[in-house]
Amino acid sequence: MSFEDYSGVWVFIEENEGKIAPVSLELLGAGRTLADKRGVELAGIIIGENVTGLSDTVFEYGADKVYVYDQPIFQLYRTESFMKALLHCSEKYKPEIILYGATSTGKDLASAVATDLPTGLTADTTELDVEEDTGLLLASRPAFGGNIMATILCKKYRPQMATVRPKVMKALQPEKGRAGQLIAEQIDIKEDDMRTKVLKIVRETTKKIRIDEADIVVAGGKGLGSEQGFELVHQLAKTLGAVVGASRDVVEAGWIEHHHQVGQTGVTVTPKIYFAIGISGAIQHIVGMKNSGMIIAINKDPDAAIFNSCHYGIVGDAFEIVPLLVKEFHKALH
Ligand code: FAD
Repeated sequence: MSFEDYSGVWVFIEENEGKIAPVSLELLGAGRTLADKRGVELAGIIIGENVTGLSDTVFEYGADKVYVYDQPIFQLYRTESFMKALLHCSEKYKPEIILYGATSTGKDLASAVATDLPTGLTADTTELDVEEDTGLLLASRPAFGGNIMATILCKKYRPQMATVRPKVMKALQPEKGRAGQLIAEQIDIKEDDMRTKVLKIVRETTKKIRIDEADIVVAGGKGLGSEQGFELVHQLAKTLGAVVGASRDVVEAGWIEHHHQVGQTGVTVTPKIYFAIGISGAIQHIVGMKNSGMIIAINKDPDAAIFNSCHYGIVGDAFEIVPLLVKEFHKALH
């Protein structure tokens, strides 16, 4: 394998019901920086049915090229068919880097492609950089329980691959009318060759709270003492029309369900305003909320680590401060 044969940064563009997943646009932003640093092209790869039209958006968000596999066999995501298309494209055009969103689809596809190529894959990356001269991808992620950041390199194989969590990278401002080169590809796979058939799609009927889409998140921690104490968080969230978040310790104590957990093993959120109430500020929590627009921390310990990661810090007892906030916000808003 000669590394000189490999060039360009690719982003797998995930499509759901005709829409591009936001993480793919975020990755085009990150990919653009890597490609510019290397002086190479940025490309998107789209696999699906009736998806060619999405390439305009991919160009507007920074890609120079788009490879499209637009065939009925790709109507729904299946590991086998998508992997074959990606391998076909990667073997033909040889990118040096491929990025995927760390979504269920992205994780599934990236690991299948990495195994088949074979190459290395860094999962759940939170920072990306590239060495200008060697082209080595520097993919960083929390390791050893989040106590250190590990930078993982893939020195012996190409392409280098990483999955990146949604909401960690920033999408570029779309440039209306920005054009690029569209490369339509096809592969010959028949439905009869597929081992997996989609028999039925059952949509979830319970309405899950999308904490990762909320403008305001009011998150509470173990400092609230009990499930009753945690009610304060619900009260403030209700007053502000916010969504409730929690630290892992709160979820483990059973005060709230796991899909409210913010952090490394929970959800990454980037609301406009994030309240951290009675949360100590462990690194595993911080990685999930540090990109919020404004972080307001309330903690009775002036040395709590959360105060190193907030815009406004209130030192005091949550049981005194939060009821005052509820009262004042209620007056202002209702
Ligand atoms: P504590 O650390 O107990 O902090 C409570 C805080 O409340 C203290 O700072 C205290 O001063 C303050 N306090 C107490 N009483 C009051 C009061 N009356 N008013 C105001 N403040 C008060 N954690 C996450 O949150 N999300 C994750 O995704 C996550 N993933 C993890 C993954 C791994 C592999 C590991 C090892 C850990 C993970 N953790 C995660 C756990 C993390 O390390 C911390 O243990 C956890 O975040 C602590 O939760 P906490 O801040 O609610 O509790």
